Amino acid sequence: MSLPWLRENWQQVLRERQQGKLAHAYCVPWQVDLGSALFVAEWIKLLLCSQAEKRACGECKSCLLHKAGNHPDYYSLASQDGRAISVDQVRELLGKLHNTPNQAGAKVVWLQDAEKLSVTAANALLKTLEEPTRDTYFIVTPERTERLLPTLRSRMQLLRMNTPSAEAIQQWLAQQLGRILTEEEMTACQRYRQRPLALIEWVKSGDYPRDYVAELSGALLADEALPTPAKADWQDWLLATEQWLQELMRVQQGAAQTQLLMPSKQAELQQFLRNRNYNVTDLSSWLQLCYGIRQQTNEQSGLNGPLLLQELWMRWL
Ligand SMILES: [Zn+2]
Repeated sequence: MSLPWLRENWQQVLRERQQGKLAHAYCVPWQVDLGSALFVAEWIKLLLCSQAEKRACGECKSCLLHKAGNHPDYYSLASQDGRAISVDQVRELLGKLHNTPNQAGAKVVWLQDAEKLSVTAANALLKTLEEPTRDTYFIVTPERTERLLPTLRSRMQLLRMNTPSAEAIQQWLAQQLGRILTEEEMTACQRYRQRPLALIEWVKSGDYPRDYVAELSGALLADEALPTPAKADWQDWLLATEQWLQELMRVQQGAAQTQLLMPSKQAELQQFLRNRNYNVTDLSSWLQLCYGIRQQTNEQSGLNGPLLLQELWMRWL
């Protein structure tokens, strides 16, 4: 595994495979900037390879078939253009899966965008996950794990990609760039611990994205006027609100500095929580309201997202 922070995840998979304890279905939250795409690609190769040890050999018949894009025991299903994954698509996949004998090794199904499964599609899948066929492995990668049906989620083993410490990213980034990091880059490593692969691109181009969480947090801590979300960026503000609430929850629960998005703000955030008398239950219920807005606006067109978000801010900030 070329990304150092994913080595522990990789070891876990290898260990379970060696001990014959692989689950039939894994749920891997899709975090591209953390390396989940690379991880899943390597994992699929490993499962298909007929002589894999610590990684796929790349040379056996199975590996060559997969490389050429026509391995008969490899299946993938994804949402088309963001549309729901229908029950027909799932039935077609399961039909092929059950009716074709496998070549030699395992059958592997990669189910992408799993939160886009319609309810009937998810239910159709449930049965297969309850009574899995031998040597069949599902790798399910939702972008928003909390939007999966709970019954579906409970039948899979969760495999979350490790988030590296700020120190680990600093070390990795310096190594990749072949030079010592600047002060600004060192701070960026703390701020974007969860997005090292995006961070390296920003550092190379010198073009950092607008930091909505820092702006929102800055305005709230200084008791200044909140921003006015527009049609073009209200979703960024919504995400920033969610991330900020999660940060407050971590601070409230006494998480270590290395777990924080903005470790330098820890003391100010603690003070903010004391002043406002917010507890974890409050924060968590506001977080649910944010998810609610996201879901509502995804499902119904014509809602005024910026206004909904502003109303939410006004109600509790
Ligand atoms: Zn191989």
